Amino acid sequence: MPDSRNNETIVLHAGHRKDSATNAVAVPIYQTTSYQFDSTEHASNLFGLKEFGNIYTRIMNPTNDVLEQRLTALEGGVGALAVSSGQAASMMSVMNIARVGDNIVSSTDLYGGTWNLFANQLKDVGIEVRFVDPEDPENFRKATDDKTRAYYAETLPNPKLHVFPIKEVSDIGREMGIPLIMDNTAAHGLCKPFEHGAAIIASSCTKYIGGHGNSIGGIIIDSGNFDWKAHPERQPYLNQPDPSYHGAVWTEATAPLGPIAYIIKARVTLLRDSGQATSPFNAFLFLQGLETLPLRMERHCANAKAVAEFLKDHPKVSRVIHPSLMEGEFRRRADTYLMGGYGGLCGFELKGGLESGKKFIDALEMFYHVANIGDARSLAIHPASTTHSQLSAEVQAQTGVTEGYVRLSVGLEHIDDIKADLSQALDKA
Ligand code: PLP
Repeated sequence: MPDSRNNETIVLHAGHRKDSATNAVAVPIYQTTSYQFDSTEHASNLFGLKEFGNIYTRIMNPTNDVLEQRLTALEGGVGALAVSSGQAASMMSVMNIARVGDNIVSSTDLYGGTWNLFANQLKDVGIEVRFVDPEDPENFRKATDDKTRAYYAETLPNPKLHVFPIKEVSDIGREMGIPLIMDNTAAHGLCKPFEHGAAIIASSCTKYIGGHGNSIGGIIIDSGNFDWKAHPERQPYLNQPDPSYHGAVWTEATAPLGPIAYIIKARVTLLRDSGQATSPFNAFLFLQGLETLPLRMERHCANAKAVAEFLKDHPKVSRVIHPSLMEGEFRRRADTYLMGGYGGLCGFELKGGLESGKKFIDALEMFYHVANIGDARSLAIHPASTTHSQLSAEVQAQTGVTEGYVRLSVGLEHIDDIKADLSQALDKA
């Protein structure tokens, strides 16, 4: 049953009322590796998926379970899997349904780490990733063939901050039995990709969900809205006997439990075998962060919008990248898909180029200079001298990075203090 309550309520209440053993209201940290079986029959039922319960923390844990339930409720899905990082979530979301010889079609507008994963690691294990420009959704159809198992994209990708056409691309995929996997990292609480047809979410919890820059983790969420069984040839690994689980056919084995074939398979085979488990302590910290996600996002959005306005008129700035300042199709997509605000990220370009970018960053006093986003504190980075410095100017330009480009992850400080720090650093840039 979908949780019909609002985001603010879900993040405080979904998945936990009190601890069943102690009545504790705060979610306890179940720091245990294993769980005593009641009997051999109980153990056998758990392993045979006849009964749900705890076996071993690499595969499931009661603290992680609350995080999974809460994020499932927030996104309107049917089940989730907490994993050790956003990267693990991206990798497992694809490997759950693609094998050697298969391909996926991905948006070019991706986090650099995901780009590396797709262009190198997945390629090396025989999964081809076909990158297409999301400006025209039809590019996804054009790159599709019989071996295409999924589409992949980010809701609010930086640096361009061009919101992805979720419905347009998921409609194309659904005609052919292809699920759209969305990385919603920068837009949790702002956009609900499942409402627009996405089938799976694979996000980092490290950013806005945790919100305080203290833990690495990821989440895969299953919408339950994708009919895997209707496409046996397109989706063989959920429809054919799985030798890694005594021949289970996932769409059939899980049918009595609901439309959870994808997410169960990810847990009991991929997570079991690859071991990319979340620490219960990190899950606790993500739950702590999640409680204030809607409140924080409101302030992140308000501050980022105010920063965009401030920078727009600054004499040292040639261009500001923020959805509120976009026009035409990109503005339409932002207004269609980001119902709760335009997000906490803002980019801008300094007229003085590379040298100016470096001077600006070195002059910042309050903003942290880090390779991260989504912290409660304001963060800044100059990609041309850091994260993108190994790339040629041409490739940098393709990814949306220019020499004078600076990315801001605008935090929760008072807007006057944020502007004051930007202003004094711009004076020195
Ligand atoms: N997806 C996006 C959009 C990101 O920005 C990041 C990290 O910056 C990741 C995924 C990877 O997340 P993690 O660092 O938790 O592995």
